[in-house]
Amino acid sequence: MVVASIRLPSSLASLSAHTFRFSWRRSAPSLPSYSLPLFRPCFQVRLCSVSAGEDSEVKLSSDQSEMIFVGTGTSEGIPRVSCLTNPLKNCPVCSKATEPGNKNRRLNTSILIRQSSSSGSRNILIDVGKFFYQSALRWFPTLGIRTLDAVIITHSHADAIGGLDDLRDWTNNVQPSIPIYVAERDFEVMKKTHYYLVDTSVIIPGAAVSMLQFNIISEEPFVVHGLKITPLPVWHGQGYRSLGFRFGNVCYISDVSEIPEETYPLLKDCETLILDALRPDRSSSTHFGLPRAIEEVRKIQPKRTLFTGMMHLMDHEEVNSYLAKFLESEGLDIQLSYDGLRIPIEL
Ligand SMILES: [Zn+2]
Ligand SMILES: [Zn+2]
Repeated sequence: MVVASIRLPSSLASLSAHTFRFSWRRSAPSLPSYSLPLFRPCFQVRLCSVSAGEDSEVKLSSDQSEMIFVGTGTSEGIPRVSCLTNPLKNCPVCSKATEPGNKNRRLNTSILIRQSSSSGSRNILIDVGKFFYQSALRWFPTLGIRTLDAVIITHSHADAIGGLDDLRDWTNNVQPSIPIYVAERDFEVMKKTHYYLVDTSVIIPGAAVSMLQFNIISEEPFVVHGLKITPLPVWHGQGYRSLGFRFGNVCYISDVSEIPEETYPLLKDCETLILDALRPDRSSSTHFGLPRAIEEVRKIQPKRTLFTGMMHLMDHEEVNSYLAKFLESEGLDIQLSYDGLRIPIEL
């Protein structure tokens, strides 16, 4: 089923005068190369988050697009409840993750593209997982994110689509509907997992659910509110396809165990690569581990890389210190992302 998306009201009005809060990042390892090229000269610039620390206010121009890391963790979230209740063993990362503002606190992997121009602003979300509500609660009010102008789906695991039901708050109270861009195979899954959102005729009259418009995508480029999105097909376990997406010079691949040869040309001249890196020691059957992810960075040669989808064995500061060495030794600028991280981008 293909339903044409509708134009939704611009969200610029709520953003144009918004002052964003930035925090200096104190822990060292990696930052210099982020600091400037993506910003225009008038900005104070750095890898930034609103999460903690010595905030300084920076006014972002209303036509500056950015991406916001809505979530950077695994399906169960970090801290894991099971680690916090384990009487026999202390999990250092999950313990740290309980501290407010700690960068080890991670919810389901997701990113928001805030596409801004002189004519308006659009919020395009990639994935809406089980913890979408908590992520949105944490970041959207602070960052002035009101509308959800489109949602693009990488694949149909629960940590990518489990929050579809939560979109009802937007379609009941903010906007009439939300266009969803999803591959046919994942739409078939949604027909089972969220049957009442696909076929709203089954709903009891008067009950309100998310009003979604499903747009079926293939592995060919498509356009969302004027933004060209190029799917980056990858394997996420044997025989299971997931999509990464390229927008502008950003390539986002959140769930991957193997990149098919035919996808590499689509990654050519990638400026910022966001790549799956589940655990520090090895890959799993469905995700890259750190060694493989670094190997792929060597092959793809982006200007800079941010890893995402980290499990609780990945300590933010420790792994970032380790990654900083690759900048010195090989000129590879690689860092871990974290929930709330904002990166200005040109679209
Ligand atoms: Zn843990
Ligand atoms: Zn998955």
